[in-house]
Amino acid sequence: MDVVRIFDTTLRDGEQSPGFSMNTEEKIRLARQLAALNVDVIEAGFPIASRGDLEAVKKVAQEVRSVPIAALARAKKEDVNAAIEALEPAAAPRLHVFLATSDLHLRVKLNMTREQALEAIGAMIRYGRQHVGEVEFSAEDAGRTDIDFLCQVCRVAVDAGATVLNLPDTVGYAVPEEYGAMFTKVREYLGDPEGITLSAHCHDDLGMAVANSLAAVRAGVRQIECTINGIGERAGNASLEEVVVALAVRKESFGVTTGIRLGELFPTSRLLTEITGAQVAPNKAVVGANAFAHEAGIHQDGIIKNPLTYEIITPQTVGVPNRSLVLGKHSGRNALRLTLRDLGYEASDAELVEVYGRVTALADQTKQVRTRDIVAIAHEVIRRRPAAMAAESSSVA
Ligand code: MN
Repeated sequence: MDVVRIFDTTLRDGEQSPGFSMNTEEKIRLARQLAALNVDVIEAGFPIASRGDLEAVKKVAQEVRSVPIAALARAKKEDVNAAIEALEPAAAPRLHVFLATSDLHLRVKLNMTREQALEAIGAMIRYGRQHVGEVEFSAEDAGRTDIDFLCQVCRVAVDAGATVLNLPDTVGYAVPEEYGAMFTKVREYLGDPEGITLSAHCHDDLGMAVANSLAAVRAGVRQIECTINGIGERAGNASLEEVVVALAVRKESFGVTTGIRLGELFPTSRLLTEITGAQVAPNKAVVGANAFAHEAGIHQDGIIKNPLTYEIITPQTVGVPNRSLVLGKHSGRNALRLTLRDLGYEASDAELVEVYGRVTALADQTKQVRTRDIVAIAHEVIRRRPAAMAAESSSVA
């Protein structure tokens, strides 16, 4: 079966969005977890952005040896030099050069002609290849680039030595059929050359980042750029967990596989929320607190008879902890506190009492309290007031 490579850009596209900045220590922690998740590439940062970013990429490259590390650079010599410096300690470095190719971006943002763009792309990829073994090229705003020009861009990039061609829907404007068709055209134009990987990078402005990424896979794309919890510029990037679980659950339909350890998805999602303090929406697919909670009586009844009635993914598959709780009149609140912590909830003493009361009441009723029930209760009790108040109430208690 064909493999789709997962390029994680949580530490670059994700980290640059408001509320998600991380220090070097935090980046290393997350990068280690991304390695445990078994992503194929970690984009660690944009080294020209600041000395701190450059040093962070360097540190990640030193600490995480088992996964290729990518660094982003505009098609400018100073950017490429900064990325080369940052990647110097990497076991498997990848230089990621980008330039916008849509007429709008070329004219308004870059003040460049198409010819100048082609020249800069060729020159910077050739220059990069002299220093780094693997170069990826991204045609920023590819989704709104004239298709004939985009084909020329790809030809120039391949001839200059790029082996990964990323064609992003930078502004989240594409719809699946269109985005897939773009890749089909480019593949036909290039004649599907050996050793060249096409890559998708989608944003969620219209809520279609994951759908567009999957359409790209159907059109032959074999690398998807995505982020944990779907964080990223504006409405975010395609969510890694949604992409890989969709490919896994619908494997027969897509006919591809990924190397991701699905059981690390939930721990990775929770580590990111722990580091940044930004929770995922409770109804978020795959990793949201309600993703496995069944509220309606008819659904609960069905699930008890057979989970397949309303559940296409089991919580265990994606690594939701499954500590078995024996909850009765004599069972400990501490055990519950630990379970809640596993699930990512830090309860104040008052909250613990409330959750405990509701969990034991449920245990009396149903004799069986499942992780999903605890998540649903904890979500109602613990998430309904600002985080700052929780810190206050725990410190008082
Ligand atoms: Mn992006």
